[in-house]
Amino acid sequence: MTDTNAPESLMSARARDFATAPHGAFVGGSHVDAAGAAIADIDPSTGRVITHIAESGADVVDAAVRSSTEAFEGDWGAMLPGRREAALHRLADLVEKHAGELAEYDALEGGKPVAYVEAVDLPLAVEQFRYYAGWPTKLTGSVVPVDTPDSHVYTRRVPLGVVAAVTPWNFPLCQAAIKLAPALAAGNTVVLKPSELTSLSALRLAELAIEAGLPPGTVNVVTGSGAVTGDALVTHPQIAKISFTGSEKVGRHLGGRAGAALKHISLELGGKNPHVIFADADIAKAAAAAATTAYFYSGQVCFSGSRLMVQREVLDEVLDTVRAHAQSLVIGPGLDRSSTMGPLASAAHRDKVESYLDTVTGTGAGVAFGGSRIAGDGFFLEPTAVVNPADTHPVVADEIFGPVLVVQPFDTVEEVLPRANDTRYGLTAGVWTSDVRKAHAFSQRLQAGLVWVNTYADYNAAAAFGGFKSSGHGKDCGPEGLDKYLQTQTIWMSLS
Ligand code: NAD
Repeated sequence: MTDTNAPESLMSARARDFATAPHGAFVGGSHVDAAGAAIADIDPSTGRVITHIAESGADVVDAAVRSSTEAFEGDWGAMLPGRREAALHRLADLVEKHAGELAEYDALEGGKPVAYVEAVDLPLAVEQFRYYAGWPTKLTGSVVPVDTPDSHVYTRRVPLGVVAAVTPWNFPLCQAAIKLAPALAAGNTVVLKPSELTSLSALRLAELAIEAGLPPGTVNVVTGSGAVTGDALVTHPQIAKISFTGSEKVGRHLGGRAGAALKHISLELGGKNPHVIFADADIAKAAAAAATTAYFYSGQVCFSGSRLMVQREVLDEVLDTVRAHAQSLVIGPGLDRSSTMGPLASAAHRDKVESYLDTVTGTGAGVAFGGSRIAGDGFFLEPTAVVNPADTHPVVADEIFGPVLVVQPFDTVEEVLPRANDTRYGLTAGVWTSDVRKAHAFSQRLQAGLVWVNTYADYNAAAAFGGFKSSGHGKDCGPEGLDKYLQTQTIWMSLS
């Protein structure tokens, strides 16, 4: 019988053993530094300690970066492109083979419904490795026609060196794949620092990279907090590039760090994404999509359609659908296959989300439904909708990153466009309309890196993803996702 107080009893024996062992960094093909692991790894569904994770200090980080430098200057750097492609395909195969196990780690530590992790995150991770595995043999330069006589000038696209990849907790395995696949395809090596809340799948992925035949050091993992391990990693002199996905606040801090040290940096940050439904849309479809994106992974998704803007005449119909969806969600531990919504990732994060709800009272806005904690030790919060807040209210301006949908009515296109754009973010946006001219004109004028029209949240390794404005710079996915891990070298040769 299932012990509901110990969701890890729902895991496969292999995954449970790995999850409950103490963990440290993975350097040069081996796990190191687990003894004395001090960071409690908490199951957000129960509030209980799963295991402990080591805080990699400057010495461990230095060993990891040196090991990755050796691999860059040695076996991985020297590997012929066809062999690099084959290695990445083998890694994709191994991630696919161990998908069930990897999904269990993210469901346990992140509280994400395991069935969704299997259906969404794992295929996305595999797709990243498959898509970028195709690139190493296609990284061509060009021959440059210059005005200097007897010259042969050509360009090469070459890797940067050792990449520091720093990832958040909301898509642990996926984010690791999104960073590793293009960085490795371009010929770099990587030291990955997963979030201290969700280290397990990254550590297992590093083992799989060795099994796939990537030379030791090509993928190293350091565990620990941002302030200690993350800081030691991004400031290490041998790091050529910081590839960061996380909050705007930390992104700004790392941008300053990278600027001072003249390191390459790319930033994939947060969003407060306007999701606009016009009255002429297929309302049933639009409302269903609005409801799904609002509460998927408890709203802890950077591209969640967290600011729903609905033309006034269809507002009640849309809100009824969203409410019915919220009421139908089965809230429970991520590892329980019947759960369709899990907890928030940590107690501190739930406190932060709740603090936004406290600011709504007395402002003319209202909580249409939800807003309460769910009894128990896990960090659960009801799916919630706040209706009619002013555009300047923090629930509209900030990324809440929880199951709190903000719903605002509007009357005209002319009114809603500037309002939708009046945000410091610019990650994604959505628009629903049956008028093709309006669809084109409106979507092109939205200030967002990705605009979905009559759909929401589609994602593919081939299509560039990344924000405008304070949502960051540099793209994931597609050829653009590879460019940020490459630099151009020009060879100018005299033939006289
Ligand atoms: P976070 O910024 O708190 O942490 C992200 C990572 O940075 C963690 O590994 C953390 O340990 C590390 N870190 C923190 N301080 C650091 C420092 N001083 N030096 C080096 N590393 C440091 O973000 P989070 O709470 O883990 O994740 C949620 C955020 O991530 C949200 O804002 C969400 O929108 C964003 N996100 C963006 C995308 C995207 O593609 N744009 C995707 C997923 C998540």
